[in-house]
Amino acid sequence: MRYYSTRNRGEAVNFRSAVFNGLAPDGGLYVPEEIPPYSQAVKSSLGKMDFRDIAFETIKPYVHDEIPDSTLRDIVSSAYPFSAPLVPAGDRLILELFHGPTAAFKDFGARFMAQAFSWLRRGETKPLRILTATSGDTGGAVADGFFDIPGISVTVLYPKGRITPLQEKQIAGLGKNISALAVEGSFDDCQKLAKTALADKDLKKKFTLSSANSINIARLIPQAVYYASAAGMAFAGKINLDNKATPRVFGFIATADESGTYGVDGKRYRSVSLNKGTPITLCVPSGNFGNLTAGLYAMKMGAPILQFIAATNVNKTVPDYLASGEYLPRDSKATISNAMDVGAPSNFERMSAHFSHEEMRRIILGVSVSDDETRDTIERVYREAGYYIDPHSAVGWKGVDKLRAENKTGDGQVGILATAHPYKFSEIVKPLIGSVPVPSSLAAAMERTVKAKTIPADYKAFVGALV
Ligand SMILES: *Cc1c(COP(=O)(O)O)cnc(C)c1O
Repeated sequence: MRYYSTRNRGEAVNFRSAVFNGLAPDGGLYVPEEIPPYSQAVKSSLGKMDFRDIAFETIKPYVHDEIPDSTLRDIVSSAYPFSAPLVPAGDRLILELFHGPTAAFKDFGARFMAQAFSWLRRGETKPLRILTATSGDTGGAVADGFFDIPGISVTVLYPKGRITPLQEKQIAGLGKNISALAVEGSFDDCQKLAKTALADKDLKKKFTLSSANSINIARLIPQAVYYASAAGMAFAGKINLDNKATPRVFGFIATADESGTYGVDGKRYRSVSLNKGTPITLCVPSGNFGNLTAGLYAMKMGAPILQFIAATNVNKTVPDYLASGEYLPRDSKATISNAMDVGAPSNFERMSAHFSHEEMRRIILGVSVSDDETRDTIERVYREAGYYIDPHSAVGWKGVDKLRAENKTGDGQVGILATAHPYKFSEIVKPLIGSVPVPSSLAAAMERTVKAKTIPADYKAFVGALV
């Protein structure tokens, strides 16, 4: 497979170059020259396949001339000791993407990327130094994904005092090949330091430097896997009705009677309808739109997906574009779903490399949700469905409500991507619904001691801390 820049279709590179360059030399993003369809055999068994087999079949055509099949099998089995369950909550389905080590969907991309970097660099003697700036979630997933990977070290820059204590422990509590720099400044300062270093010729004489940011194609492609898996399960009617891993009040959601409702504690709730054989609509809480772009890839490959809902917080650049046809990037506004506070989503460039405005309008419904609506939804989902939901996923839930009220979602089944475990955002969730059960991965992270070096937002100080 060849990859070309969104800004220049003339010059294509292989997977390896696309991965190590990160961004194309002209500032564009790499996209595959084609989106390869699943074979009929794979398409018809998505609902029965193991998650790692779907990962293998999904990623293989993108890398097959560079990574041997047996290696790819090893990579996906080390990257994914967990999977993505599709569970019912109230009247809809939830695709839980928070069962990885840092409890957010970014584990899926970061863990594959770490394994792929390591294998593609086999035999190289000069160690690779990865620099990554984070506003919170990405840094943890990258640090965890690259932890203990030989020949690669990672330096994470984060704005001191502006990430949650849990995020800081996930980034700065690992040690070994992961080092953390707490920068006295903003996320933008962190990003500027990393970018300056990546373009610094003197520094590059000393280190082989690379970034691991969210636009890397090695993070995007593996995210298509859980869409294919979820759509396959929904199409086959294979829903896990008794998912013990999920944080919920009731152990399971009871099966509905003929009225389409079920009862708990003397109240009746509308139950999820399991329409076997119908393609699903998936709602994606979105910020930088990498996740949704991966979903579009899965759909184009042939996963049974009817359409997508792009749910944003008040940073609604893409919903506005879908409505008006005009793309107007803007400064971001701070919200309680802060991993989605993006006013100029970088993956929009990828979406529009593959799809026209007309095509996007046909496939994607846009909707935006305020912080007040998000808080109400967290409280209501807990009260009515017994399900703990984080602020980002709550944007998705409310987005579906709003579109349903306008009769825009059709009759098919609807699933919402739960992008993070609610415990990660306890500061917001706990005052609304009380303590959230702690998943074991996060309980372990809370035990770690932060070992970060504090530096001023100054390039000389940063370089000094690297040596
Ligand atoms: C990163 C993130 C998002 C946004 O995903 P994009 O791919 O940037 O659209 C949503 N929710 C959570 C919890 C995240 O960490």
